[in-house]
Amino acid sequence: MDDLKTGTRNKRGDWAPNEALETSPLFRLPPQLSKFPGWLPGYFLPWNVLFMASGAVFWTFLFPDLDRMKVLEWGWVLQILALNLVAVTLFYSALEVPLYLKRRQANRFKYNGKFPSDARNPAFWFGSQNAEGILRSLGTGVPIWTAYQVLIGWSAANGNALTLTFAENPLYLLALGLLVPAWHEFHFYCIHRLIHVPVLYKWIHSVHHNSVNPSPWSSLSMHPVEQLLYFSSCLIHFVIPSNPVIALYGLHYAGFGAVVGHIGFDRIELGREGGIDTHAYTHYLHHKHFEVNYGDGLMPLDKLFGSWHDGTPEAQAAMEERFRRKVARANR
Ligand SMILES: [Zn+2]
Ligand SMILES: [Zn+2]
Repeated sequence: MDDLKTGTRNKRGDWAPNEALETSPLFRLPPQLSKFPGWLPGYFLPWNVLFMASGAVFWTFLFPDLDRMKVLEWGWVLQILALNLVAVTLFYSALEVPLYLKRRQANRFKYNGKFPSDARNPAFWFGSQNAEGILRSLGTGVPIWTAYQVLIGWSAANGNALTLTFAENPLYLLALGLLVPAWHEFHFYCIHRLIHVPVLYKWIHSVHHNSVNPSPWSSLSMHPVEQLLYFSSCLIHFVIPSNPVIALYGLHYAGFGAVVGHIGFDRIELGREGGIDTHAYTHYLHHKHFEVNYGDGLMPLDKLFGSWHDGTPEAQAAMEERFRRKVARANR
């Protein structure tokens, strides 16, 4: 597949899309309703539908019975942990193996022309971005993610929270489900701005930013405090009336969905002409430039607060001008 039809590659081998990134038409000012129908399928497919389905399937078929979750016991807690460790390993590997290990599409549509595993990097444990990513993801990321899921299961089983049923509140829960990505983005934007405060950045968030050239296992390669904050988005379901499947969908959106921004490729090729657009460029630019795109562009928060980078030379110039002014202020 010719990736130079939709993008350009520089001398270093880095590929960038020709089209500027856009925030969703729904939240633009003024809202561009005419562009809404064209945007809508990409909102659901493939990722949101996948995580909605995984949330429902996990809760219905793979979680322990409600009766069993009434009492906190290691047996069922470890069962959910094991399920999650296997699921995350399989899902992340489904991207890592073909794209990075087998390099099935070489560097076509790859934002950074280089592969992280080609050179040892002393910033990482054992000099390996993948080794640290896997250890942090499975060592603390998935256990923390699981702890929130245990809280959801235990609370739903005891009727402390998450008590709405789809049979009695179908429209409300449907609307809540549709809002999951928007809430995730708003929550992520807030905690992300917080951990970019210099002292927090130094101790917490710099771990995640060691991946300047992110790959799938960079997704949850975070300090445990960041993982704790990141997954705390699900606590909203204990404040508003909600249902455990919606809460679990939110956590799947955060846990499985984290990989989407770190794929490193704009398009996953399928067959000769087919493919899946990843929408990963927004967050890639955050890893590349650090102080742009704190959110993923679903909501216009970066536009509102002046940190939006749409990939164009104009946005690059505006960002460099912001940096120049910041340095001048610091030196004053
Ligand atoms: Zn990231
Ligand atoms: Zn960051």
